[in-house]
Parts: sequence; structure tokens; C-alpha cells
Amino acid sequence: MGKKVLVSIALPALIFAVLLIVVYGKRGDDAIRSSMREEAVSLADFIANTFRLSTDSSRGSGAREVHDAVTNAVRSDWKAVRHLSSIRIIDRNGVVRWSKKIEEEDHPLADAPRLLAATAIRVDQSVAPSGKTSAGSEVVYPLGGVACAGCHAGEATLRTGVLQVVLDEPSLRLEMNSIFKEALGSALIFLAIVSLVTVIAVRLMLTHPLRRLAKAMHRAEEGDFVARAPVTSNDEIGQLSAAFNRMLVNLTSLKAEDLENKRELTVAQSELELKRALESTNEQLQGRLAELGLLYDVARSLTSTLELSSVLQRITQLVPTRFDVPKFSIMLLNAEGQLEVKAAHPAGRGTEGLLFSLNEGVCGRAAQTRKSVYIPDLENEPSFKVKDTQATRGRGCLLSVPMVHGEELLGVLNFERPDKAGIAAEDIEFFTGVADQVALAVQNARLHEQTVALSVTDPLTGVPNRRFLFQQLELEIARANRFGTQLSLLMIDIDHFKTLNDTQGHTAGDEVLGKVAKVLKQIVRRVDTLARYGGEEFVVILPQVTKAEAAEVAEKLRRAVEDVRSPHAIAQPNGKITVSIGLANLPIDAVDHGRLVDSADAALYASKRAGRNRVTAYATGMEVHPGRERGLHAQRRRVTGEIPAVPVGNK
Ligand code: GH3
Ligand code: MG
Ligand code: MG
Repeated sequence: MGKKVLVSIALPALIFAVLLIVVYGKRGDDAIRSSMREEAVSLADFIANTFRLSTDSSRGSGAREVHDAVTNAVRSDWKAVRHLSSIRIIDRNGVVRWSKKIEEEDHPLADAPRLLAATAIRVDQSVAPSGKTSAGSEVVYPLGGVACAGCHAGEATLRTGVLQVVLDEPSLRLEMNSIFKEALGSALIFLAIVSLVTVIAVRLMLTHPLRRLAKAMHRAEEGDFVARAPVTSNDEIGQLSAAFNRMLVNLTSLKAEDLENKRELTVAQSELELKRALESTNEQLQGRLAELGLLYDVARSLTSTLELSSVLQRITQLVPTRFDVPKFSIMLLNAEGQLEVKAAHPAGRGTEGLLFSLNEGVCGRAAQTRKSVYIPDLENEPSFKVKDTQATRGRGCLLSVPMVHGEELLGVLNFERPDKAGIAAEDIEFFTGVADQVALAVQNARLHEQTVALSVTDPLTGVPNRRFLFQQLELEIARANRFGTQLSLLMIDIDHFKTLNDTQGHTAGDEVLGKVAKVLKQIVRRVDTLARYGGEEFVVILPQVTKAEAAEVAEKLRRAVEDVRSPHAIAQPNGKITVSIGLANLPIDAVDHGRLVDSADAALYASKRAGRNRVTAYATGMEVHPGRERGLHAQRRRVTGEIPAVPVGNK
């Protein structure tokens, strides 16, 4: 600011000074020149007239005195002749007759012809006096015949000579210049003082207050609203500072309000966030509760049955409906170590029965790693395999969860949703829980199956036991009655088995029992039921078989046993293992299983009596096996206990 003011004052002053120098320099120069010319002319006039005067009034010695007086004056340091560079009188022959410089007198002048050519007073201001480089003023004054006549009457050449006066202009100019420099110096000092005063005044009154105001503004700009600009005067700057301070006061209160509002807003926001967090936790808890409820439902539903097929059926109904899983399948590890689809939703699309190796597809990977495998986008999953001919290429997402019980892999559950990434992390956790429940249910069902199988199987022969026989007989009779079909029953007894035991030992007896059971099993159909009735007796139920057909089957069985090769056969009475068979038919011989068994037993007894190794069909009046407590109630009682030792009947 000070600099600008300084420049704005000093620069015009400087320009003004330069203009003054130029204008007044020129005018001074002109004045010098004109005064010099006038001085030279006056001097020339003075000398010429003095000499003329001396010629007229004081001829003789008087003239000499005048002459000498002038000569002395010219050659002295008289102020009036200080600028006189040279003054000469040259005669017509060009000889210097009188000069300021005495040494020039009576010597010819080289420049004489130019001077003698003047016919009237001539003034020349551009002549360089001898020995000077700068210009001077020259006056050439023709003497005109009268001059110096008093003393030099006879010297015609002098009378027609010229007077030359040369003034040394530069010395005058130097003087002028020094005066001018002094004036200029004074002006500059004045200018400097004025500038300094101006700068100090501007600094004190303008720059400093403005700087302080700017500083306060800067602090306010950086957020320091308590900063204030000092008010030191009542001028415009002082008023500006006061106005700025008032504005800051207003701004500070606004800022305080703003801060208060923000604080309230922050408190409200944190309260809102807390509320949202609570709501979300609540939702999560409710979701968790719902999940636990569902899991409980699943567990309850699955544990309410021990039938594996029912377990599979229930889980296949539950998952799609309760858990929003449109596509679901359950795979179990089969005896060949492959994953077999046991149940699927939607059903009936050819998925059931499909087989996957343990390293095949997504399910195979889950089974192999025993970890859940989640594919968020099936379209871009190369390992995903579609074997189902009716199904289109999968879209959406798939979660395969392995079912593991202890160390044993039971199978895989596959959950499929139609949206990409449609199964969230918490769903995966939940479905893993479901898989654990299903694994438990499957394991229980399998154990149950095994237990049931063991409880109805005869351990020695591997065929069903008497318990199973009566369950099956009840079922088959009910079916035969419902559909009006026939049913035949064969009672088979190994001949002379006691003898075999007695002669070959009990182990040999067991071996023969096993062989006979195996042969019988190979011949009967899948729909027939072969069971060990007790001791060395077997029963075969033949559903939908007439009495005549049953006789054929019985005969076939008899022959097959007869053909059994055994090292123990030799000890038998007829040298081979044989059986006697009695057969009865429902409804021909009996209408309930008690009577049916008794009838077959009676027929068997008839075979024994007839000589053994034969088949006898029941006929009315046949004698019941003596000593045997036959009848339904007796059978039922035995069913509940261990396989009993069957009383040996009479032959
Ligand atoms: P029959 O030709 O009249 O039927 O004469 P049998 O000797 O076969 O008849 P019996 O009823 O007198 O003998 C049956 C024998 O079967 C008695 C018993 O020791 C034997 N027995 C019963 N159960 C078993 C068994 O599980 N293993 C062995 N080794 N023998 C058994
Ligand atoms: Mg026997
Ligand atoms: Mg017997």
C-alpha cells in the first residue's frame, strides 16, 4: 500500500522534474546563447568604439593609454571578460595585430581569410574556439577604415582589418549546469522528504490498521470467531473494523447455535442408532427364535418316526415349505460309496436314484471335504453337474451341506434357491443345523432298521425267525382275505436230525441246518417268506399259491434238500439229508393262521408217519402232531421269548 502511494506520488513528481529539466534546460540554453551573442557583440562594439573614440578624441599618447587600458582589461581576470576565449585584431594581411594572448601578436592567423571575408558585423554561434571542442559564439567585426587611425594612420592594412571576439560558451554553460544541479538536488531531496513523510503517514494511518483488519479476517476465516480487529480510529478503517467485529459477534452466536444444534443432532442420531441397533438385535433374536422353533419342529418331526423312508419323506416336505427352498434333495451314501439321491423336491422329475461320486459335482465336493459348499451363482460354476434329464441348467444359488455322524459321512443335503446369492450366511448356519438334525434322524432310522432286522432274523441260518414269520403270516392272510386270493403254507422238518446231532455232533447239526436253509432260500420266490419255525423246522408262506401249486413247490424243495451234499449225510439212516413237508391252504384247509399252521403241522406229521422224505397235503381228519401244543395262542406266547427249543414230536 505504502509503495503504491509512494509510486503514485513520486513518479508524477519525477516526470514533472524531468519535464522541468528538459523545458528549462532548453530555455536556459537559449538564454545562455543569446546572452553570449549579445555579450560578444557588446564587447566587439565596445573595443571597436573605444579604439575609434581614442582615435577621434585623444590622438597621440592618449590613444595609447586607451589602448593599453583595454588590453589590460581584456588580459585581466575581470569578471566581464571571464568567458572571453579570444579577442583579436587582424590586418588585411592576416597578421594578428592585437590579441588577448600576447604571444599571437604579429603572427599570421591561419583562419584569417574566413574572417577578412566579412563585410559587416557577423555573428556565428557554432564556432569552436581554438583548443576547445564545444561550441562558442564568435563575432567578426570589420574595422571599416576609421579604427585605430590615430595611432595607425599610415597602416591601411590595419584599417581594413577585422576585430574577432570569441566567447567560451561551455564555461558559462558549466556554471549554469552547476546552478541547475543544485536546484535539481534540492528538488530531489524535497521529493524524498515528501515521499518519506507520505510513506510513514500511509503506513501509520492506512497500512497498519488495514493489516490488523486483514489479520483478524484471516483468523475468522480459519474458524477463530473470537478474534477481533482493533478499532484505533474513527475513520473509515476504524468503522470498517467495528463493522467487521459486529459481524463476528453475530457469527459467533450463530456458530454457537449451530454447534448446539449439531450436538443435539448427534445425540438424536446416536439415540436413533441405538434404537435401530436394538431393533435389529430384536429382529435377529426373533429370527433366531424362529429358526430355533423351526429346528425344533424339524427335530420333533424327524424323531417322531424311526422309519428311514418316512424321515426322508418328511424332511423333503419340510424344507421346501418351511424354509423357502424351492429345490431340495437329500442324498445318502450307499454301500458302493456313492451319493444316491433318495428324495427330492419337486418330486418325480427323475432326480431320485441319481448317483454321484464323492469327487463329482458340488455335492461330491461337500461330501469329500465334509464341509458345506456354497455356490452363489450356479450359471458360472463349472463343477456344478446336472444329471437330471428333465431339469434345466441351474440358475440361482446352491448350498450342499454334508451330513456327518461322528466320523461317518451319511450323505448330503442340497438346498437350491432361484436367486443369485440367495442364501445368506445365517441361512448357511441354519441349514447346517438342519443337516445335523437330519443326520441324527437318518442315523437313528438306520440303527432302528438294523435292530429290527436283527430282532426278526435267525442268527444261525440268516433267515427270518418265528417272530417275523407270524407277523408276515398275519399280513399275508389279511391281504389274501382282502383280495380273495389263496395262500399256502409249507411246514418243513429235517428227518432224523437228532440222529445227526448225536452221531456228528451239534456243530455238524448247525452246519446242516445252515445248508438246508440256504437251499430253501434259493428256491422260494421273493414274495414268499421262508422262516425258521424252531429247531430243525422251517415254514414257507406262499402268497397267491393254490394247494396244487404249493405241492409242486414243496416237492421241488424236498428234492433240492435231498441233493444237498454234506459229509455228514452219510451217517443219516438213508445216507442223505432229507426233509418231510406238510402243506395246508387258506381258505381250503383253514381261515386263520392258527388253524393253517396246525393243518400244515398235521400234514407234516402225516409225512413222517408215511416214512419221511415226502410231501403231504392236509386233508380233513388228519391227526394233529401229538404232544405239540399247537394253536395260535401257543405260537404267540413263544414269539415274545428267545427262539425256543421246540419239543420233539413223535415219528
Ligand atoms: P424226525 O425225523 O421224526 O423229525 O426225527 P428228529 O430226530 O429229526 O426229530 P426230533 O424232534 O426227535 O429231534 C430234533 C432234534 O433237533 C433235537 C434237537 O437236539 C435238534 N435240534 C434242535 N435245534 C437244533 C439246533 O439249533 N442245532 C442243532 N445242532 N440241533 C438242534
Ligand atoms: Mg426232525
Ligand atoms: Mg422236529
